Order: sequence, then C-alpha cells, then structure tokens
Amino acid sequence: MKASLAVFNSIINTLLEDEKSNHVAQFVPSEELFDRIDLDLRDEPISMDSLKEVLQDVVLKAPRTATPAFFNQLFGGRNDKAILGDLLAVLLNNSMYTYKAAGPMIGVEKVVLRKVNDIIGWDENAGGTFASGGSMTNFMGMLMARDAKDQTVKHSGVSSKMIVYTSAQSHYSTPKNAAFSGIGRDQVRNVPVDDQGCMSITALEEMIQKDITAGDTPTLINATAGTTVLGAFDHVDSIADIAHKYNIWLHVDGAYCGSVIFSKKYSSLLKGLHKVDSFSLNAHKMMGTPLTCSLLMVKNKKHLHDSFSNDANYLYQTDHDEFNLGKTSLQCGRRNDALKFWTLWKSVGSRGLEAMVDKQFSLADIARDYVRSHPDYQDYSIDNSISVCFNYKGIPARDLCTQLYEHSKLLVGYGTFNEDEFVRLVTINANNDKDIILDFFKTLESFVSNNTSIFKTGVFQEK
Ligand SMILES: *Cc1c(COP(=O)(O)O)cnc(C)c1O
Repeated sequence: MKASLAVFNSIINTLLEDEKSNHVAQFVPSEELFDRIDLDLRDEPISMDSLKEVLQDVVLKAPRTATPAFFNQLFGGRNDKAILGDLLAVLLNNSMYTYKAAGPMIGVEKVVLRKVNDIIGWDENAGGTFASGGSMTNFMGMLMARDAKDQTVKHSGVSSKMIVYTSAQSHYSTPKNAAFSGIGRDQVRNVPVDDQGCMSITALEEMIQKDITAGDTPTLINATAGTTVLGAFDHVDSIADIAHKYNIWLHVDGAYCGSVIFSKKYSSLLKGLHKVDSFSLNAHKMMGTPLTCSLLMVKNKKHLHDSFSNDANYLYQTDHDEFNLGKTSLQCGRRNDALKFWTLWKSVGSRGLEAMVDKQFSLADIARDYVRSHPDYQDYSIDNSISVCFNYKGIPARDLCTQLYEHSKLLVGYGTFNEDEFVRLVTINANNDKDIILDFFKTLESFVSNNTSIFKTGVFQEK
C-alpha cells in the first residue's frame, strides 16, 4: 500500500507542477487516442516503474478540470479539504447501508442532511439521502411522487396516465426518469418558459387543468433551481401554491444551483423552498467537492421509507433503522459521498460555504459587466445567474468553443435558448478571481485575432 501511495504522491506532484504552466492538457483527438497512449491490457504483469510511467501519461493527458481555463461544465476547481475527505473515504471503503459497516460515517451523513434540513426550515420529520448523482436524486424524487399518488404502483405497476410537468429548459433526466419509472416519456409535459427562462405559471396551471379534464393524473411538478443553460430559477413559491391546490408532489431540481440555500443573499432565489416535497442538490457543482456528491432532501421521511425500504435479513442484522441508511437509499452498497462535503463544511464553516456561493455570483457579475460593456460581444445572459451567455464578433459559438478546445486554449461550452446559440461561461469555480475571469476574455480575443483564417472574416458580423 505504501509503495502505491508513494507513486500517487509522485504523479500528483508532477501534475500539479505541470498544471501551473499548462492550464489545458495537450489535445488528443479521439481517433488517435489508442495510438497515443498505451491503454492496452495484456496477459503479463508489468513492473511498478512501468505502471507509474503509463499512469502518469494518462493523468497528464486527462482534461484539467481544476485550472483557470476550465469553464466547460457545471463543476470545476479543486477544493483541497473536500479532496482530503474523499481520499479518506476511498481508503476506508465503508459502505453506507448499515451502522455495522460504516459506524461514525453514518453520523457524518446524518449531520450533513440534518443541517441542510435546518437551513431549508424543515422539522424533525424531514429526511434525506445521498445518491450517485443529480439524475438519480431526481429519479428518487419522481419515484416518491409516483408512490405518494398511488401506493399500488410499486406492486402492480403503473395502470393510469400519471403526468409529470417540467419546464422546457429543464434537465434531460426528467424524461429519462419518466421512462425508468414506468410513467413514460410521453407523459412528460414541457411547460413553456418566459423570456428569463423560468417556467410559466399560467401555462403550468392550464396544462394541469387540461389533464384533469382528460381523466389523467397529475403526479409530479419538477421545478428547476438553476437551469442547465441559462441558470434560471423557477418561481418555487408560486409553483408550490399550484402544487398544493391540485395536490401534486413538487420536487425542486437544484443539482446546479440549489446550493444558493447556503447564502443569505441568494437564498431568496429559492423563496418558498420549505413548501416543496423534495429537493435535490449537487455539492459537486457549486460546493466544489469531487464528483459525485448529490443530496436528496425530503420534507417527510416516511416517503423515503415507503418507496425505498426493503427487508433483507442478510443485510440488516443489528442497530435501528435510523442508523441503517440502506433502508432509505436507491442503491445497496453505497459509497461514502458525505465525508467530502462534511470535511469541507467542518473546515470552512457555514460562513465559508456562503462565501463560495457569493463569490460565484460576484464572478458572474464581473463577466456579465465585461460582456455588456464591450461592443464586440452580444449578451444573452439573465441576471442573478452564474451562467454568462454571449457571442463574440458574431462567430458561431460551436466553432469558437471547438477551436479553443482543439488548440488547447480554453475549455468552455455552448448552449441554446429560443433560436440563439451562444457561448456559456460558468463561474462555478470559487477558487477563481477577477483576473482569471478577465484573462478568459483576453485569451479568447487574442485567439480570435491570431486565427482570423479559421473563422473566416465573412462571419464576423453583428447579429
Ligand atoms: C447537472 C444537472 C443534473 C444532473 O446531475 P448529475 O449529477 O450530472 O446526474 C440535473 N439537473 C440539473 C439542473 C443539472 O444541472
């Protein structure tokens, strides 16, 4: 073990050193991957030196998600305290189903969930769990909604049309989960959004009434806290009123920006959250923990037991259900994802979490101000979002993003809203500062001016 840990230290030190000068890993085209790196598996073992060499090669060529040039997805950065917790979780390799197998780690998970419930404003009836990602916590929310509406489904299967409402801007996990749950993709209504990317309340209510008239069963409203492209917050407070009026389960998908609950200033974006039935949030997004760290919060924990508990004599042999967390989880064997978040939280305190959220919004304000005050940019952003959306000199966003990637300059992605396609800069790395954001624009601008032949002057027109 010690020899392997020494190799680990050596490779990581090489990586950290290399990252200082190379923010983007050397681009390896997918068609050349298997020629450029020795990934082949053979019959014979290799020496530790050879193993170290090949591991280092793979590590150095892997995309660098922690550097000041990574803005591609809804995560980024490297939080050393969270990593410390996660490395310990790997070494300990506890499984979170029973107190017998996880001991104090059960307490770690329970404390994190209880604290989040306190922040939401839920009492001791509330519960929660961790799952392997935001898609899965949303899935659990959908299953609880289905079972709360009809207790017979889990035994005899879906027999009526159960309808799910989610905004046209919501994450693709909702239709996918509708397929998994037996509800069916065709039963998902895409509620139109307003010009700020938020679910239209009037359209939602009209759709619900129409489905009731048709004899179908409205079952779940999925609201989004931070839509994947624009970073928009659905109006949870008003949606909750509709959900109560028609007795429909309300889940808030906060995978991207649910962590605003940690900020006094920005938690107002989730006004009314205490009124919902379930809420998911990814600490591996705004809180910067390693992937994955996905929390599912439930106002009444009885629904977790109703949908997910199963007796198993070979597993639950000691202790109370309250400490055998397998009774409320989707998986059986389950990784300890709580420890990394707990280690971070313990180290920086709730104030530290708040500062991370506030920092991300202030970096977004800096980026939005830059875009709005420079005439070569066209702005597509909404306010109060950590996704900054723009085009530069009329260059098609997908060309710009692809060229920046293939030339190892910046990793940034693009998105669409209505008819527009644009670059989406995500300021989710709380370790970044103002200069890094301004450097992003400088890098992009000088890349374009040095590569006019790639982009063809013809497309350099104002939209
Ligand atoms: C990222 C994201 C998800 C999915 O979370 P994973 O952990 O990637 O499965 C769901 N909803 C929204 C809004 C997201 O941004």
